[in-house]
Amino acid sequence: MNLAKDSILIHGGIDGDETTGAVSVPVYQTSTYKQDALGKHRGWEYSRTGNPTRAALEKLVADLEQGKYGLAFASGLAAINIVLSLFKSGDRLVVSDNIYGGTFRILDNVFKNFGITYEIVDTSDLEKVKAAISEDVKAIYIETPANPLLTVTDIKAVAEIAKQTGKLLIVDNTFLTPYLQRPLTLGADIVIHSGTKYLGGHSDTISGFVVVNDKELADRLYYLQNAIGGVLAPWDSFLVIRGIKTLGVRMERHVKNADKIAHWLNESGYVSKVYYPGLETDPGYEIQKKQADGPGAMISFVLDKKYDYRKFFESIRLVTLAESLGGVESLACHPASMTHAAIPKEVRERVGIVDELIRLSVGIEDVDDLIKDLEQAILNSEV
Ligand SMILES: *Cc1c(COP(=O)(O)O)cnc(C)c1O
Repeated sequence: MNLAKDSILIHGGIDGDETTGAVSVPVYQTSTYKQDALGKHRGWEYSRTGNPTRAALEKLVADLEQGKYGLAFASGLAAINIVLSLFKSGDRLVVSDNIYGGTFRILDNVFKNFGITYEIVDTSDLEKVKAAISEDVKAIYIETPANPLLTVTDIKAVAEIAKQTGKLLIVDNTFLTPYLQRPLTLGADIVIHSGTKYLGGHSDTISGFVVVNDKELADRLYYLQNAIGGVLAPWDSFLVIRGIKTLGVRMERHVKNADKIAHWLNESGYVSKVYYPGLETDPGYEIQKKQADGPGAMISFVLDKKYDYRKFFESIRLVTLAESLGGVESLACHPASMTHAAIPKEVRERVGIVDELIRLSVGIEDVDDLIKDLEQAILNSEV
């Protein structure tokens, strides 16, 4: 049966347990499996190579992305590590100009040492993407909406450029989740997730995912997953399966709250800029509407100079100052000194990650309570 996304959340992947009839996937907390004879096993040999709890989740995330093959990792960065391990010395990547700080760090301080280089490009500008393509470029790596300025890249248009020039298109879909955006259906080759965020959804576990459609690519990734390790443990796999069951209801509330807060901030007079692709005035609004089922729940804003951003962070009460995003609770972070501190200051400022920039991960609390808290914190931080 062809299930709608809300049903896939509950019944996708491997639903329950065939052996016992348990309606939730059991935690197969085992490292190895009994083999019946030499060379004769029951499909499971060793839990780095494969584990039934992890396999159920891998299939579930693949189903949600409308992809064929899913792989689960111990973190988003472990997933990114595996994807980057597809490349070799001399290869080059074209990368979105505001990406997750840790992605920048692994490119700049780890893979660069292995001769894999990158060029940072504003991928929302298709001419710039085309201009950056050369023989050495093997892949285009984008985040949309990107982190932390929520810049929207047209996935379909970049996928066309990638196809025409024979490059892979990699999309980090963490900010929207497959509930709101399915890049494989728009022509991407590889989708990456930090499952630590909305997929897990409760700020209680770290995980990462890769989803692809191409069998050959999947085989290479499975090989790397087993060869490099960094797989997701059975218990964490269980927690993410549990989280995904409520992804739909959570995302709907997240987006509703974020939309109200973004509009309120925009009209409040407290801020000089609001970045949110759900605002009609946002440069990414039309493309966002076309390629996704919603604008997500990440908002960034620049506090007006009348207010001291350090004091704002000390004054928030309901909203928590913390790294990360995508949990049920609202979090605020300071990209310049936290998530994006790995990016050199001049690069940061050039792309707009100024000191006054505040990033909000809007949770599912009562939205008016959130607005009250933000307002009192802003007023409290007046200089
Ligand atoms: C958090 C995050 C990552 C890294 O994931 P971890 O689970 O923290 O390793 C990658 N990309 C984006 C967009 C993220 O928000």
